[in-house]
Parts: sequence; C-alpha cells; structure tokens
Amino acid sequence: MSELASTVPGAAPADTPAEPLVAPTVSRAYQCQCGRPVFLRNSRCLACATPLGFVTEQFGVLPLAPVEGSERFTVFGDPQGPQYLRCANFLSASGCNWMVPAEAVEGEAPDPAAHGLLPGMCLACSTTRTIPDLSVPENPQRWNLLEQAKRRLISQLLALGLPVTTRVSDPVHGLAFDFLSEMPGLPVLTGHAGGTITLNVAEADDAVREQVRAQMGEPYRTLLGHFRHEIGHYYWDLLVAPREDWLTAFRELFGDEREDYAQALQQHYQEGPKPDWASSYISSYAAAHPWEDWAETWAHYLHMADTADTALSFGVNALKVEIADDDLFHSADLWQPDDPDAGHFLDFLNGWVRLTHVLNEFARSMGQHDTYPFALPHAVVRKLQFVHQLVTQRREP
Ligand SMILES: [Zn+2]
Ligand SMILES: [Zn+2]
Ligand SMILES: [Zn+2]
Repeated sequence: MSELASTVPGAAPADTPAEPLVAPTVSRAYQCQCGRPVFLRNSRCLACATPLGFVTEQFGVLPLAPVEGSERFTVFGDPQGPQYLRCANFLSASGCNWMVPAEAVEGEAPDPAAHGLLPGMCLACSTTRTIPDLSVPENPQRWNLLEQAKRRLISQLLALGLPVTTRVSDPVHGLAFDFLSEMPGLPVLTGHAGGTITLNVAEADDAVREQVRAQMGEPYRTLLGHFRHEIGHYYWDLLVAPREDWLTAFRELFGDEREDYAQALQQHYQEGPKPDWASSYISSYAAAHPWEDWAETWAHYLHMADTADTALSFGVNALKVEIADDDLFHSADLWQPDDPDAGHFLDFLNGWVRLTHVLNEFARSMGQHDTYPFALPHAVVRKLQFVHQLVTQRREP
C-alpha cells in the first residue's frame, strides 16, 4: 500500500462488513483557514474572503496570505514558505485558480521554461496549446468548462504521481491540448496522437454533447470522461509500450494492439459493437480495439479513484449498504490475487460497488441518469487491477 493511501477514519460498527472504502490517493476535501469547506474551483472563501488557490506541490486548494506590496501570496500560516502568483488565466474566461511559483514569473531572471511552464501560466494552463476563438460568443463559456474539466483531470494525475509533462519541457512528446472548432468541410475528431489531445469545442455544449450521446447510445458522455479516456492513450505510450513485461501482460489481458486499428474502428462504426461485449468490456466502444479497451478501462479507473477519494474525504463510506455477496468481488476474480497489494485493491473495488449503489439511487431520487451507469464484469476487474498496479507502482519511491 502506498503511503499516500487513505482509509476510513474511525472504526466501523461491529455489524458492518469488514472492508472499508479504500481510496488510493489524496483528500478531495479542502478547508479554508476559517474551517469552512472549500472546493476545487474556489478562488476565495465565501465566508471569510480569504484568497484561495490550487498549489500543485500540495495537491490541493489552500488558503493564501497576500505578501504586502506585491502581487504575491504565501500559503496561509507559512509566511516564510514559497511564494506564488496567480496564473495569468485567473482573470480570463478560463477562470483559472491555480498558482504559479513566483520565481517562474518575477525576479532577476524569471525562467518559466525551467519549470516547464509558459510565461505567467500554471501547469494546467501550460498544457493548453490551442484555445477556442473567443470572438465567437459561445466560446468563452465553452473554454471555461473545458479548462475546468482539464484542471480536475490534471489535479488527479498529480495526486496519483503520474508524470505531467508540458510541451515546454518536452517539445516533441509533452502534453498539448488543442481545443478546436469545426469549419465547413473540416470535422474535428476527438483523439490522441503523440501527446497531443484534440477535443471538439462543441463537446462543451450540453445540447450538442447530449445529442451525440443519445445518437451513439452511450450511457454517459462528459468532458471529464473524454479527457480521462484520451490521457489513457498518452500513458499507454509512456508507461506500457516501452516496457516488455507490462506489454506482455497487457496483451494477455486486453489483446494484441498490433491488430489493424483503422480497420477495427471502421468495423465498430459500420457493424456496431460485438454482440457479447458486456461480458468482457466496460463499454461497447472498448470492444472495438485493445487500445480503446485500454483507454476506456483507464478512464474508469480514474473515475473510480477520484469519486472514491471524494466520498472518503467527506466521510461517505457506504459501509452500511446491504449488498448480496454475489455482487461483491473476491480474490479469485483478480488478475494477480497473490500480489501484496491485492487485498487493498479488492477493498477499493468492493467499497466502490457499495458506493455506486448509493450514488445511483441518489441520482434516481432526483430523476437524473445513474451516476455510474456501468457494471463491472470479471474480465474488467482483472484489467482494472492491471491499471491499478501500473499506477501505484509508479507512485512508489
Ligand atoms: Zn474562510
Ligand atoms: Zn492556469
Ligand atoms: Zn480512444
């Protein structure tokens, strides 16, 4: 178990099941210096007006103290600590609340590139290469939604200890997000290639996205889901492809990615999903090709980890949810039941099953779609353990 791992605080009553909800990363519950809870997108406490900002090294939104006579801030209660400036996009439509190390922007020889940053920009904003045309009336709001979802994605990647490399640090393979609009005769395809993630700006439009979701028969379609899927392709290139042992295990679980990709996708769109996909894949699209199976499974791992972190951070553990033993997973369902971390992963998984029972019923109470409209077949559980091991092994020192 990683030292970042958290478990439910306090003992469970004796009549509740043994396994707690175990979340793999860090707290998602942030607090102002006044004690009030604050959230990922906040830049000022609504109760006491203390400025707030996301500090990447500390993986969270922190209360800040202005440094007199400057635009700088320190973390509240640490006046001798590092100084920060607000991201240049704080006042733009992006509304970024992330902080930039002051020495990357000001001083004798500011060198943002040494920090992997664009001038004045935070880490999250430094991964954006193309923003929407802001002279189009709808685009400022769309850009805001895109960046908000991307900041949530990147904050989680950092918490998981995954490398977030910008194009400033690595001009060839660093991350570059292009938010593009369709032009007559020029469709924009959402996708990933060599660190570049392209997203159609129209996906930020609820009406457009919902129409596509319904047309494609998808149970779920969000900006965050797109980002988590596409970044999966990026990490496959980075973490799986170059390592023989992981690549061999990948092929055993997901299939051989050398099968013709273009042809596989064409077949998926022309003939529809494989009829028995639900027994081995998390979604019908995952059945199209091993790479898509990987990206879908990876995205689900990030969904599960972030939602479990959030639930746990706010004291929600769903331990009392009654559930049939058949609906829970056991070590025989795992890919590597003897791995030292297998028990931890199993607890995380079963905690997740309990939690989604509650979340889905909550959503139905409000007449909304299920929060997590998916079932996890045993084959997917094995693939999820592969993702879990890849991510947690990266996190260990
Ligand atoms: Zn406050
Ligand atoms: Zn920013
Ligand atoms: Zn994909």
